[in-house]
Amino acid sequence: MSMFETQTIHCPACGTAKQADMFFSVNADRRPDLRAAVIDGSFQRQTCANCQAVFRIDPDFNYLDLRRGQWIAVHPFSRLGDWAELQAADQASFDTAYGVAASRGAREIGAGLAVRMVFGWPAFREKLVAAEAGLDDRDLELLKMALLRARDDAPISGTVELRFAEENIDGLFMVWVDATTDTVVDGFAVPRLAYEQIATNVEDWGDLRAEIGTGLFVDMQRLMV
Ligand SMILES: [Zn+2]
Repeated sequence: MSMFETQTIHCPACGTAKQADMFFSVNADRRPDLRAAVIDGSFQRQTCANCQAVFRIDPDFNYLDLRRGQWIAVHPFSRLGDWAELQAADQASFDTAYGVAASRGAREIGAGLAVRMVFGWPAFREKLVAAEAGLDDRDLELLKMALLRARDDAPISGTVELRFAEENIDGLFMVWVDATTDTVVDGFAVPRLAYEQIATNVEDWGDLRAEIGTGLFVDMQRLMV
């Protein structure tokens, strides 16, 4: 079930109060419109009635998509530094609902779910579009690390991240995006072949793939924070 509470929020630019629906559980099977809103960037996006500033409320909810096999604990980007501690809590939440502490029927459902945690809108969106494009998120993280190693002008910073945005006729379109504002800084395409070569290269990438695929936080950020 998708669940939300109507809460009072304040415009970050002028402080004007407004009422907004804050989700704490999102079920993509029952509410495909919410999944679509994550992908198109409109989910929890607000416009201030006073100063017209556009801003996004940080995500902080559990996401479930049984059809696509995704269970994701979505956290605000500001909690990134706490990932190890949050991972234990997220694993416990999953175990209660679909894991070792759940009923047999629920465990059978859980066996078909990839269990993940993410920080911020761009990271969350990436998990959805990568699955849609048939990309394994572990191999996608390896590709991003290879791309970062190959260029010395990467505009990466404490808040700017490299994320997969979509597959188009030029290949895999990657963006530099500010995770705090969800603003794209720049973008470029990578041939899908570059991804395939990494995904099939166990000799050079196997160890790192195993490391990045351990636990819920399948993101190169874990090696950087
Ligand atoms: Zn305002």
